[in-house]
Amino acid sequence: MEMKRRDFIQTAAAGTAAFTLAGATLLPKGVSAATAKPALLGGPKVRTEPFPSWPMIEENDEKAWMEVLRERGWCRTQGERGAQFEKAYAEMMGAKECIATANGTSALFCSLNGLGVGPGDEVIVPPYTFVATINVVLLQHALPIFVDTDRETSQIDAKKIEEKITENTRCIIPVHLGGNVADMDTILAVATKHNIPVIEDACQSHLAEWKGKKVGTMGKTGCFSFQVTKNLSGGEGGAVLSDDSDLMDRCYAFHTNGRARRQGSYHFTYGIQGSNLRMTEFQSTLLVQQMTRLEAQSRTRTENANYLTKQLNEIPGITVAKMYDGCTRNAYHLFMFRYDPEKFAGLPRNKFMKALGAEGIPCSGGYSPLNKEPFLENTFQTRGYQRIYSAEQLKKWAEENECPENDKLCQEAVWFFQTMLITGKTDMDQIAEAIRKIQANAADLAKA
Ligand SMILES: *Cc1c(COP(=O)(O)O)cnc(C)c1O
Repeated sequence: MEMKRRDFIQTAAAGTAAFTLAGATLLPKGVSAATAKPALLGGPKVRTEPFPSWPMIEENDEKAWMEVLRERGWCRTQGERGAQFEKAYAEMMGAKECIATANGTSALFCSLNGLGVGPGDEVIVPPYTFVATINVVLLQHALPIFVDTDRETSQIDAKKIEEKITENTRCIIPVHLGGNVADMDTILAVATKHNIPVIEDACQSHLAEWKGKKVGTMGKTGCFSFQVTKNLSGGEGGAVLSDDSDLMDRCYAFHTNGRARRQGSYHFTYGIQGSNLRMTEFQSTLLVQQMTRLEAQSRTRTENANYLTKQLNEIPGITVAKMYDGCTRNAYHLFMFRYDPEKFAGLPRNKFMKALGAEGIPCSGGYSPLNKEPFLENTFQTRGYQRIYSAEQLKKWAEENECPENDKLCQEAVWFFQTMLITGKTDMDQIAEAIRKIQANAADLAKA
C-alpha cells in the first residue's frame, strides 16, 4: 500500500516536470509548412507529445487530503477547512466575504435566492456561456432574457443590455467568458441607472481583472467554479463572493438548509427555506493547496497566450478574441479565436478542427446558441411556467429571442484549452505551425 502511494506521487511529479520539457517534434529542419503533408492526409504530426494533464497533483495535495481522511471531519460542520478556504479565497480576490459551495452552479443558485429572484422575474443573460448560467434562472422559474454577443470579444454585448430591460428585470448575469472580461463599466452603469443587481458569473475567470480589480468583486455577488476543468480545481466546488454582509447571510442560510450563519454552523432553527449546497472539507483543503500554484500558473498562461496571439493574428483568417481596454488581466481559461474558411480555401471549420487534432493540437468549436436550445421551450411548456407566464408573454419572449451575432460566432469559434497554455514557447510555436501547415495545404484538405 505504502509503495503504491509513493509510486503515485512519483508519477504525478514526473507528470508535472514533463510539461516544462514538452518540446517534441517541430517540423524537421528544412521542411516548411507548405511542403509538409498534413497529418490528416498521412503526413507527420507537428506535435506528438500530449499537453499536460489536469488537474496537477503535488505532494502538498496528497498530504492535505490524507489529513482530512484520517481525521474523519469530512463535512464542514465538523471542521475548520471550509472557513479557512473562504478566508483565503476572499483575501486573494479582494472581497469582504466568501461562501464555499458544492459547485459553481450552486454559487449562482445561492446568489439568485439571496437576491430574491423568482417566478415572474426576468434575468438578463448572455447566450454564449455554459448552460448552468441559464439553468439557475430556470430553477427559480424566472425568464432568461438573452442579450447578443460581441463577436470581437466573445462577451455579452453590454451596449445591448439596456434595450432589454423591462419593469420585470430583477438581475443581470454577465459571464466573464473564457477568462476574458465582460465590459464591466457599461454593465455596472446600466445596472446602477436601473437599480438592478449584477451577479458576475466568473466561473471561468479566476484572477482576471477589470481596471485592476478582480472579477467577481464588482457585482452584488461574484460566482466561481472549481469544477475539475477550471483553472482552480477541487474536482467540484464553487464560491460566492460579496461585500454585502446581509446578502451573504441569506446566501449562507440558503446553502445549508436555511440555518442562519450567525448561530454557528449546525443547529435546528431555520430562517428561510434552503438547500444543501455545502463544500466538503476534502474540496476545501484541496483548493487551499491548489491556490498556492494559481498565480504562477496564471502568469505562465498569460505569457504564452500573448506570444501565441501575436503569431496567430498574423495568419490570414484567424482572429484572436479581443479584450476590452478595461481588461487588465485575462485568466485564459480558454484561448478563443474565430476561423474564416475563405482564407483556408473554403475548408469548413469542422475539417479545420479535425486536421488540427490530427497534428496533435486539440481544440473545440465551443458552444452552440443556447438561446435556441429546445430545452427552453420545453421548460416553458411545464405546468409551473404555464401558470406563471401568459401565452402572450411567452410568445413575446420567443419573438424577441434573437442573437444574430452570437449565431455567427457559434459557427466560426475555435478554442484551445487552458492546459495547453501551461507549457512553453516551443509548444506555442507548434500550435501556430500546425495552423500554418493546414492553411498551406487547405485546398488538398478541402478536397479530401
Ligand atoms: C463551469 C461553469 C459554471 C458552473 O460551474 P459548475 O462548478 O460546473 O457547477 C457556470 N458558469 C460558467 C460560465 C461555467 O464555465
